Amino acid sequence: MSFIFPPKAISAVPIKGSDQLYPVNRIYCVGQNYGDHVREMGGDPKKNSPVFFSKPANAIVINNKSVKYPTATDNFHYEVELVVALSSGGVNIPEELALNCVFGYAVGIDFTRRDLQILAKQSGRPWDVAKGFDQSAPISSIIEKAEMSNLSKVQISLSLNGELRQNSTLDEMIWSVSEIISELSKFYELQPGDLIFTGTPSGVSAAAAGDRVSAEISGIGDLNFEII
Ligand code: MN
Repeated sequence: MSFIFPPKAISAVPIKGSDQLYPVNRIYCVGQNYGDHVREMGGDPKKNSPVFFSKPANAIVINNKSVKYPTATDNFHYEVELVVALSSGGVNIPEELALNCVFGYAVGIDFTRRDLQILAKQSGRPWDVAKGFDQSAPISSIIEKAEMSNLSKVQISLSLNGELRQNSTLDEMIWSVSEIISELSKFYELQPGDLIFTGTPSGVSAAAAGDRVSAEISGIGDLNFEII
């Protein structure tokens, strides 16, 4: 049997210091994972249960390629996030084994149509059109986890046109990487190639065509691209 048209190439992310690529299977995201960001969005940062949503695998943008300002929004927000790349998975993974599933880390942006997300929250509708659109997930190359043994005091930051807008450390996350993997695996059988965007600190705001986004997680990676 053949395909009725040629299938799209699989999404893939470069790996730092390697000629091989990381093939993307699925993209999961965690919402409301830094207390200061939960408060700026008008919420209460109590540790209830993590908010999960997803994006299509082909929403990634690699190699600092420019991002097109999306349709259907007047409030296009950046959110800088630690991205976890899995090389194995499972279901109901215990916290103490969760890091065994991690291949490496990257820095990513969870672009958001904030106006549509606010409407969705108000009307009790799903977040899909606010979060899962084309080019909504720029990502740096991935570094292997062996190069990053301790994430706790690592700095995460984002600048817009050279002006610092988001600046925090990874130990400010409400749910740790191990806890996120364990919780997510209660709902999905996690698989090699699954990326997890782990939430953003405070300082989110709107970006426009012509703006330059630069983001960094110390020792993990950086991004520098234009919105067009
Ligand atoms: Mn986010």
